[in-house]
Amino acid sequence: MVSNGTPEKTAPGAGPDQLEAAFGRPLALASRSIHADDYTNTHPAVAPPMHVSTTFRYPRNPDELVPWSEADPDAFENFYIYSREKSPTTTRYEALLTSLLGGPAISYASGLAAFHAMMVFLNPRRVAIGGGYHGCHGILGLLHKLNGLETVELEDEAALAARLRPGDVIHVETPLNPTGEARDLEYYRRKADELGCWLTVDATFAPPPLLEPFRWGADVVMHSGTKYFGGHSDMLSGVLAVNPKRAGERTVPGRKGGGESKLTWVQQLREERLLLGGVMGNFEGWLGVRSLRTLELRVKRQSENAQRLVEWLAEEKGKGEGVVAELVDRIQHSSLQPEAADKDSWLARQMPNGHGPVFAVWLASEPLARRLPSKLRLFHHATSLGGVESLVEWRAMSDATVDRRLIRVSVGVEAWEDLRDDLLQGLQALKEEVGR
Ligand SMILES: *Cc1c(COP(=O)(O)O)cnc(C)c1O
Repeated sequence: MVSNGTPEKTAPGAGPDQLEAAFGRPLALASRSIHADDYTNTHPAVAPPMHVSTTFRYPRNPDELVPWSEADPDAFENFYIYSREKSPTTTRYEALLTSLLGGPAISYASGLAAFHAMMVFLNPRRVAIGGGYHGCHGILGLLHKLNGLETVELEDEAALAARLRPGDVIHVETPLNPTGEARDLEYYRRKADELGCWLTVDATFAPPPLLEPFRWGADVVMHSGTKYFGGHSDMLSGVLAVNPKRAGERTVPGRKGGGESKLTWVQQLREERLLLGGVMGNFEGWLGVRSLRTLELRVKRQSENAQRLVEWLAEEKGKGEGVVAELVDRIQHSSLQPEAADKDSWLARQMPNGHGPVFAVWLASEPLARRLPSKLRLFHHATSLGGVESLVEWRAMSDATVDRRLIRVSVGVEAWEDLRDDLLQGLQALKEEVGR
């Protein structure tokens, strides 16, 4: 088998399994985000290299030449040919994500490229989907144009039972864009089992350590890695991870009647990615590795900040007087769902490490929502989320489907007291302006 590099003597070289064996237990998330890719080190440099090559030398020895079609798919990580298939930098990013997500992970050029690849792979006739990220609905619209794919309203229990058939997909986004409200994955796992459907989860709003969708039965998990995995608003990325119980499965999902493949699910997804062409760029892969090192630090801080801000807003709103009570109509976030207060509820079990860092605020009128961003000094007015810097978005700017009084807040890693005071001074300035 071809190997494009033998680990130097200085490299720890231990894969996650060997690390686990050495410690007699799995390492914590924070440690895995630094070391789960150690085994890919082929150079004594401590910081990861960035490989930009699109093509890789074949062995010089004719006897070692193995045509691609005859290559062993299990030797994936040692066999580089052309970067539309894979490149060492994105393989490293995937090695980390595989450990952090708890199932084999495959990277894509963007979150939507990942969602598209997931639909091409599972090839359902119907997809149950609720509100949530508008772009995913856009892709289902394209598939409707191509092959008549239909959508079913996720929250309509009767419609799920009446219309879904085996091989269809139940797609759950949790927490949900733009409100940050969580959905009960155990409930949808039961539905998927009853109806013979696949359960796919868009967990972009709750990256590790906030949510483990495989624990609640997801078959495939997707993330827009553009958000928390990148974490610095400077790279596009998408990720699919396959439930470890399904990773070795050789069925061909979809309405063609399935059948067996010589490739596992993960290998089939990689093969399809080679054809769809939506691979991540090398530079983005390199940025992704750098970013994942601090994933847990960032996400914990963002989650705590968001929860404090929501608590503060809800408390101010509850007082019935003051600028928050006057200008803010409603606040929505998973921490305000009724189940959040009950320690035994599905929500407390599903998100034991904290709530997502995004929430939504409805101002009392559309003009207030349009103007609030201009009054803030720390929150940038921009779309997207998940970066270290806090953002607000008058959501009507980029999503035509939402209430025009809605402001989406993505909380960063600043000191929460400063974020609170920024919101407070912004609301006060807004009140003075409209009062004039
Ligand atoms: C941003 C986002 C996507 C799309 O990801 P891109 O990386 O922008 O393609 C999908 N789902 C959710 C929940 C998102 O927030």
